[in-house]
Amino acid sequence: MERFDHLHVGVLALQGDYELHEHQLGLLGIKQRRVRLPSDLNDLGALIMPGGETTTMAILIDRFGLRKPLIDFGRSQPVYGTCAGMVLLARHIEDNQAGVNPLQLMDIDVLRNGYGRQVYSFEETLRVQIASGIEEIRAAFIRAPKVTRLGSAVETLSVYQGSAVLVAEKNILAASFHTELEDDTSLLRCFLSRSLDRQVVDKVP
Ligand code: GLN
Repeated sequence: MERFDHLHVGVLALQGDYELHEHQLGLLGIKQRRVRLPSDLNDLGALIMPGGETTTMAILIDRFGLRKPLIDFGRSQPVYGTCAGMVLLARHIEDNQAGVNPLQLMDIDVLRNGYGRQVYSFEETLRVQIASGIEEIRAAFIRAPKVTRLGSAVETLSVYQGSAVLVAEKNILAASFHTELEDDTSLLRCFLSRSLDRQVVDKVP
C-alpha cells in the first residue's frame, strides 16, 4: 500500500474493539500506534476511535486527560469513529441518560442504541459512497447509534432505512456500524484516502 506509506495512524485503545482496527491496519501494512495518553497523539497523521461502550470510553478519556488533546487533534487531523466512536464525535446525544459528554467534533446528533439492543444486532449489505464510487460493503450494526440530525456541512455517504449511517464532515468520518469485524478494508482505505487528500488540501494556501 505504497500510497499510505507515510501515514502514521493512532487507534484510541482505552476500551472496545480497538484490536480489530489494529488488525485491519496491519492487513494494509500501515504504521500504527495505540493512543492511551495525550503524548501518544504526537506526530500522528490520523486517528481511529473504535466501537465499544461510549459511557466507559468517555470516563476513561477524562481520566487519562485525553479530552482536550483529542478535541485539538480532531480540529485539524483526520478522525474516523465507528459506533461508540461516532457517538463520541457527535455534537449532541439524544436522551442522554448516562450524561456522556461528547467531543463535539462533528455536527450531528445521535441516539445511542437507536437500532435496538444487543439482541437485535444485525448485518446488512450497504451501498456506500467511497472515493472510487459506490461500493457494497457488509456492515454489522451492534447497538448502533442512529443519526437524528445532520448539520448542513455534513455529507451522507450511506443511508440505511432512511437514516444516514456513514457521514463525513471535513476531516471527520463516522459510521454507525462496524466493518472491522471482517477483513474487508474498503472503508478503512476510504478513510486513509480521505486523510491523505485532506493533508493535500490543508497544504494549499
Ligand atoms: N451502543 C453502544 C454505546 O453507545 C455502542 C455500541 C458499539 O460501539 N457497538 O455505548
